[in-house]
Amino acid sequence: MLKCDGAYMTDNRAAEAAVKTLVLQNEVAKLTLDAIEEAVLRIDISGDITYLNRKAEILTGWPRNEALGRPITDVLLFTEGRSTSTNDSALNRAEFERGALIPIANCKTCTLVRRDGVELGIENTVTPIHDQDGIVTGSVVAFHDVSAARAKSVEISHLAQHDPLTGLPNRVLLNDRLTQAISLAMRQDKQLAVMFIDLDQFKKINDSLGHVIGDKLLQSVAGRLVNCVRRTDTVSRLGGDEFVVLLSQVEHEEDAAMSARKILRALAAPHIVDYKNLDISASVGVSTYPSDGPDAESLLNKADTAMYEAKKQGRNNYQFFRRDMQVRIAERQLLERDLRYALGRNEFLLHYQPKFSLETGKITGMEALIRWMHPQRGIVSPAQFIPIAEECGLILPIGRWVLLQACKQGRVWRDSGFGIVPIAVNVSAAEFEDKDFISGVRAVLISTGVNPQNLELELTESVLMQDAESTVRTLHALKDMGVTLAIDDFGTGYSSFTYLRRFPVDALKLDQSFVQDITEDPGDATIVSAMISIGTSLNQRVIAEGVETYEQFMFLKSHKCGEGQGYYFSHPLVAEQAGKLIGATNF
Ligand code: C2E
Ligand code: CA
Ligand code: CA
Repeated sequence: MLKCDGAYMTDNRAAEAAVKTLVLQNEVAKLTLDAIEEAVLRIDISGDITYLNRKAEILTGWPRNEALGRPITDVLLFTEGRSTSTNDSALNRAEFERGALIPIANCKTCTLVRRDGVELGIENTVTPIHDQDGIVTGSVVAFHDVSAARAKSVEISHLAQHDPLTGLPNRVLLNDRLTQAISLAMRQDKQLAVMFIDLDQFKKINDSLGHVIGDKLLQSVAGRLVNCVRRTDTVSRLGGDEFVVLLSQVEHEEDAAMSARKILRALAAPHIVDYKNLDISASVGVSTYPSDGPDAESLLNKADTAMYEAKKQGRNNYQFFRRDMQVRIAERQLLERDLRYALGRNEFLLHYQPKFSLETGKITGMEALIRWMHPQRGIVSPAQFIPIAEECGLILPIGRWVLLQACKQGRVWRDSGFGIVPIAVNVSAAEFEDKDFISGVRAVLISTGVNPQNLELELTESVLMQDAESTVRTLHALKDMGVTLAIDDFGTGYSSFTYLRRFPVDALKLDQSFVQDITEDPGDATIVSAMISIGTSLNQRVIAEGVETYEQFMFLKSHKCGEGQGYYFSHPLVAEQAGKLIGATNF
């Protein structure tokens, strides 16, 4: 019945307006949802899709008209690892209150497979929808693409765990892997090995050829190390020229020894860097689990200790950790600590040992030998602390002190009328290579007024053989200054005749190990007489060291050795006694 009833009209209009408002609100909501960056999808209680916004269409690859009414498991496909699956953790059928089933759960780390197969990292949240009575009628799934953020975080974690220069795992990742490998080895009752690898004399290459070349050499070393081990092993760089290799599967100690030998061989072949052939060797320390320690830290420490031993054994070799090494290293560290204060506390002292002419019996010179008066240990011999000083760089200030002190003493003897006695000073490799060495010698000569001819520098053969070219230059510079040069411990190094001829050397000091047995061992007697002949023919003075007996003295004298030094003539003496001896002998 159509009746123009005012009330009815009003009701109708109101309803219409309400519907309009509702449609409008719905439209606004849709537009709003389409405008946002979050993908939104709504499902009903049976898990079928009742709505999805623009972003959800884009991320799933499903247009609205095809997606509506489909089960959510068709549209939201997740992978787990590599295989695509629509169950288990990513699509858990989580049971919500009142028995309603929502076929998807919150997930922070799932990978969505878009309809075209492209995989996207997403994060989603699922919120159940309740009706007025509080009954779950469906749910809203909101999700967004986190692929870029995830890639960035993967990149950041890679950076945090790898060494930028070589791309190798760094200390952080090594620690992680080592800790994991230890727990695996423990469960399986297996062994593993840690190798600490330190390049020999790398600093020299870096200093002489520059950091760019040094870096490339490190990259080449890294590549060789990686090629030496199995894929399951870890090669890492701790920094500088220190690498650590973790061998995760070791049956016997010999397996680790084999790997160490392989590494030494692989590194020894020349490295071609910027068209240059570079040679480098390494010292390797090995520790094994479980015998050397229960955790990553102790295994690394032990391998490091063993590496130091390998350095001490002359480099380019490997050593397994042994308990006695640790005692020695601890002792060494104590000495090194005290050595740092020794100069400042005036704990050094020089003794002087005379050299004699075997023919006239006169003193031909005094060799300065350093002594360390340790406040607790008493006198520490230079054989004990000089190698430590050389390693930690303290030899430079100590060497300068010795040179100055010895020259001052020479001046004191001269001024007190004891006559002019040449002073001999021992020079370590590190001092000789120091760029300020020559100017330092000059400064001392000037400040003490010692005639350069009365200063003899004793250099060991190993110093001379280190880098022939620059050695020759330094030797000539010293010669030009007028300083005398002697080769110390002659016969123990690899002196070749060519070198001997090239070096402007004035004297050879025959090592005491040869002199010791000349009267008993015919072999040593032959060697000593041959060395005397070499020196004489090259116009060099020959000085025999370590002469202890009358027989040795007579042998040397009869073989025309020019000078001798040793307990037979005199022990090293304090300055005052040495001065008296000069006075008594030379006048
Ligand atoms: P070196 O230069 O070969 O010195 C000779 C060493 O043999 C000295 O030991 C000396 O005391 C000892 N000696 C002398 N005559 C005899 C002998 O007849 N028989 C025996 N068995 N030994 C004898 P020292 O003073 O303990 O020095 C040891 C080494 O320490 C030296 O060997 C030298 O290489 C180094 N050294 C000493 N003073 C200095 C120094 O001021 N600077 C540097 N760089 N090294 C030094
Ligand atoms: Ca000497
Ligand atoms: Ca010597």
